[in-house]
Amino acid sequence: MGTCGLWDNTGMSEIPAPDAAAVPKVGFVSLGCPKALTDSELILTQLSAEGYATSRTFEGADLVIVNTCGFIDDAVKESLDTIGEALSANGRVIVTGCLGARAGEGGGNMVREVHPSVLAVTGPHATQEVMDAVHSHLPKPHDPFVDLVPPAGIKLTPKHYAYLKISEGCNHRCTFCIIPYMRGDLVSRPVGDVLKEARALFEGGVKELLVVSQDTSAYGVDVRYRTGFWEGRPVKTRMLELVQALGELAAPHGAWVRLHYVYPYPHVDEVIPLMAQGLVLPYLDVPFQHSHPEVLRRMKRPASGERNLERIARWRELCPELVVRSTFIAGFPGETEAEFQHLLDFVREAQIDRAGCFAYSPVEGAAANELPGMLPQEVREERRARFMAVAEEVSAQRLKLRIGATMQVLVDSAPSLGRKGGVGRSYADAPEIDGTVRLLPPQKLSKRLAVGEFTRARIVDSDGHDLIAEPI
Ligand code: SF4
Repeated sequence: MGTCGLWDNTGMSEIPAPDAAAVPKVGFVSLGCPKALTDSELILTQLSAEGYATSRTFEGADLVIVNTCGFIDDAVKESLDTIGEALSANGRVIVTGCLGARAGEGGGNMVREVHPSVLAVTGPHATQEVMDAVHSHLPKPHDPFVDLVPPAGIKLTPKHYAYLKISEGCNHRCTFCIIPYMRGDLVSRPVGDVLKEARALFEGGVKELLVVSQDTSAYGVDVRYRTGFWEGRPVKTRMLELVQALGELAAPHGAWVRLHYVYPYPHVDEVIPLMAQGLVLPYLDVPFQHSHPEVLRRMKRPASGERNLERIARWRELCPELVVRSTFIAGFPGETEAEFQHLLDFVREAQIDRAGCFAYSPVEGAAANELPGMLPQEVREERRARFMAVAEEVSAQRLKLRIGATMQVLVDSAPSLGRKGGVGRSYADAPEIDGTVRLLPPQKLSKRLAVGEFTRARIVDSDGHDLIAEPI
C-alpha cells in the first residue's frame, strides 16, 4: 500500500564467474519495491567488484542474501518465508532491507525473533553493512575481478530500462505508512552522483530511466537545495534542475526519462514545460491516495491542501499529452460514504489515466490503526472494487482516444525478431504497473522488432488496460 508496490524479483540473479571453482558464490533474492531493487543492484555491483560470483540456486551458494520488504503484511510473510526457505536449503543467510529494520512482537528484531539462526540482519540502504557481514562470513577473494563490472553496475531490470534512486527516506509521516520509521528522514543523493549514474546507464544502453524515491518532488529539501557540481558547472540539488539535466543527458541517446512519486506541490508546475518540450516524458506518477480534504488530513498527506483538480487541469493546459498515474486507498478509517463518493468524482473529473487502489489494510505500527471508525473488511473491499470499476472506465475511455494515433513504442518483447508481433510500451505506460502496447506482426516484410529499441506504431484498438498497434 502507499507509494511502494510489491516488487517481486524472486529470481536469483547471476554474475558470471571467471573460475567457478575458485570464486565464492553468493545467492541473492530481491523482494520489494523499486527502491529496494536499487539497493539490491548496489550490493550486487559491490559483490561483483570484489570478485564474488552469484549462484542461481540456494544449494549452489556459499551464502545467501535476502533483500526483504516490510511494507504490508503479505510482504512481511513473503520475506519471512523466503528467509526460511534459504535457511533450510543453504543454512547461511544474511538479511537486509525494510523488514530488517522492523521490531517483532517480543520487542527485539522481527527477523531474529522468527529466524534466530540468520548470520546478520541490516535495515534498508545498507550496502556497506551487508558487505561487512559478507566479508566476515565469506572472506573476499584475494584477486578481485574489478574489470568484470560494467560501468553502469549490475542491473536487475532488463538491459533497456533502469531505476534511478535519487534519495532515501522521507520527511512526511503519513498515518498509514511506516516507511519513515524504517528508512529514516529524507537524505538526497548528491546531484553530481545521480547525474554520473544516469550518464553511465545511458552509455550502457538504457533507453528508459525511471526516477524513484519516496518523494521525488522533495529532492534536495534536506540539503536546502545546495548547489552541487556536474561536469564543472553548478547544478542545484533540486527537482527542476535535476530533471532538466537528466533530460539533457537522455537526449543524445534518444532515451526516455520518467518521473515517479511526485507530490502535487506548486513547484512541480515548473517541470511541466520540460515535458511539453519533450525533454522528459509527459507522465507523472502522483500518489494522491484520496481526494477528500478530511480524509487527506487524517492521512496527514503531503500537499493535501493543494487544489488538485485545478492543478491537474493547469498541467494539462500546459502539456495536453500529460498522462497522470496515481494510487489511492479506499476504506481509510472513518471514511464516510460521502467522502468515498468525493473520491469517485475526483477520479472522473481529474480523468486519471492510470489508477491503482488498495483497500485499507492496517500495517503494524502505523498511526492510522489508532484512528476511530475502522471499517469492516467487506466495506473496504467493496469500496475498492467500486473504485476500480470507475477508474477502469475512465482509463478505458482515455485509451480509446488514442485509436488512430501514431506512437513511439519501446519494445519489451519480440520473439522471432517481431515477425509474430511483440509487446512494448508507449510513454503512457511505466513497466510493471501500467498497461502495454500489443504489437501486431508488421505488415512490411522487411520490418523487424528488437527488444530495447523503439518502433513507431499505429494504434488500431484498445483492450482493457492495453493498446493494440501495427508497427510501421
Ligand atoms: S510520503 Fe513518506 S510517509 Fe507518506 S506514504 Fe510516502 S513514504 Fe510514507
